[in-house]
Amino acid sequence: MHRLVAVSNRLPLCDNPSGGLVVALQDALSNSGGLWIGFSGEQSEDPAETLTFHDGARFQRASFDLSEEDFDSYYLGYSNSVLWPAFHGRADLIEIDPVFLDGYRRVSEKIARMMVPHLKEDDRIWIQDYQLIPLAAALRKLGVTNRIGFFLHIPFPDPATCAALPNPKEMFEWLSQYDLIGFQAQRDVRNFTESAAQLAEIEMPGDDVIRLCQRETRAGAFPIGIDAAGFMGDARKAREEDRMRSLTNSKMMIGVDRLDYSKGIPQRFRAFQLLLENNPDLTEKVMLLQIAPPTRESVEAYQDIREETEHLAGRINGQFATVNWTPIRFIHRPIPRHELAGLYRQANVGLVTPLADGMNLVAKEYVAAQDVANPGVLILSRFAGAAETMDEALIVNPHDPWDMADAMKRAINMTSNERRRRHSALLQNVVESDVAWWADNYLKKLG
Ligand code: UDP
Repeated sequence: MHRLVAVSNRLPLCDNPSGGLVVALQDALSNSGGLWIGFSGEQSEDPAETLTFHDGARFQRASFDLSEEDFDSYYLGYSNSVLWPAFHGRADLIEIDPVFLDGYRRVSEKIARMMVPHLKEDDRIWIQDYQLIPLAAALRKLGVTNRIGFFLHIPFPDPATCAALPNPKEMFEWLSQYDLIGFQAQRDVRNFTESAAQLAEIEMPGDDVIRLCQRETRAGAFPIGIDAAGFMGDARKAREEDRMRSLTNSKMMIGVDRLDYSKGIPQRFRAFQLLLENNPDLTEKVMLLQIAPPTRESVEAYQDIREETEHLAGRINGQFATVNWTPIRFIHRPIPRHELAGLYRQANVGLVTPLADGMNLVAKEYVAAQDVANPGVLILSRFAGAAETMDEALIVNPHDPWDMADAMKRAINMTSNERRRRHSALLQNVVESDVAWWADNYLKKLG
């Protein structure tokens, strides 16, 4: 059996909530005596270029620190001010700065140098996500010939947006050094091949084999899932407040998103406003609970989205609230996932309406958390990767507040037969295509 070596931006130490991926890789790592490498989250002045090993998991974990300069240019800079906006279709938000790109390359080169002494000849290496795209190229430069896979958790952009990167050709050269490039959705595979055809060099001799920048590799869609069984357990254990649903006339809709401009929160609020404007009978009958923990607050675009959403929620509440009712409840803190499970179960409608999203795990969690006898309704953006496999949700265009307001009304009034029919099809998909299935599928293909 080949040992699995996983590399991600953050190493899952107990204080950081990268739940799904940990569950996904746990078995593969434990069974193969594997190793997980990632950033410790600590910034220090001149960190040693060595890995620190940590006990306490069923597999080996090793972390590295970063200097403040590396963190700013690699993580806040190139990863989150260039790649994140570009890959989510927001070329207008890209901030190009050669210092960012240098830092991005440099960090992958450092990680490669730290990894090499710990690698064995027949290890399988699996690199996660957009922060580490150059890592295979850096390892290859140091002579590593192992099989190396990559999985992109966020969308891949169309050719026009890809061309807005400062280094589109280099991006494809980096990607060509992997043996398997995994995407969330078919949409991403299409964008990837079209962008490569326009901006680099690609030949597709057949099946999923491609020649990218003169190197043979493979690409495919591997839609990620959640730990469905674990999540269903959490939801059942959650406080039994869901009974409230049948005891009151009032309906609850829930949105759970990091406060990110890709999540479409202002558009969702505008749709809710339209729903209330056009349906005065819903006064005091429906509320929207929006959980939106802040992230990446030192990046300017994130300060802007926070201001915009707070302002809009305040305005809508001012317009419609009564002494007994606040239409939007806005929580700016992270809520632990097991508590979210209970809230999802209480909510009659799950609102997952991103403008662009790799998969969106909240959509799958909402479905898993429902009471099968009395499930809620999922409203899902056509631009979430999840929409490719969850077509029994009410699929909406998140740019169109009228479309979303209609879907909200339809969800609130949906008969219990229709809710159960839709939910049972959705649940089957969430359970069958869970996170363990995802990791298995990918690793088999990489092997
Ligand atoms: N989440 C959480 N607490 C919160 C908000 C979100 O634990 O307050 C979790 C949520 O349950 C989900 C993940 O964060 O598992 C978000 O994943 P998703 O794919 O929806 O979006 P991302 O944040 O990765 O863009």
